[in-house]
Amino acid sequence: MLTGGYYCKAIRYRLPDQTFDATICYCDMCRGTSGAPCVAWLSVASEHLELLQGTPARFRASSHATRTFCATCGTQLTFVDDASPGETGITTCSLDSPDAVPPDDHTFLDDKVAWLVLGDGLPRFRRARSEG
Ligand SMILES: [Zn+2]
Repeated sequence: MLTGGYYCKAIRYRLPDQTFDATICYCDMCRGTSGAPCVAWLSVASEHLELLQGTPARFRASSHATRTFCATCGTQLTFVDDASPGETGITTCSLDSPDAVPPDDHTFLDDKVAWLVLGDGLPRFRRARSEG
């Protein structure tokens, strides 16, 4: 079982250990909504995300996706694409133990800022993993 929440602790959640698609995403949407050069994500079956406390704020981040965040401290928590409502992306670093789910790869490198240099040897994808 994995646990996490927002930085201010207003919201807490729980997940099973069975996560998938752990990645570090460099897309312009992650960059713009976080104010950071990239965001680490893991995915779970949406039905397995269990909110224990609090209610996240939500917004349409694009024409095809909804993101949630904490209205108090601003921590971003989830991403759900309209095309895949059964999967929920969760920010890895909102886990209490982010080291429990290391990334498998890097995605959307076409959007990466030039000054961030990668050196971990993980697979890299110019766009989504499914796009190669
Ligand atoms: Zn992204």
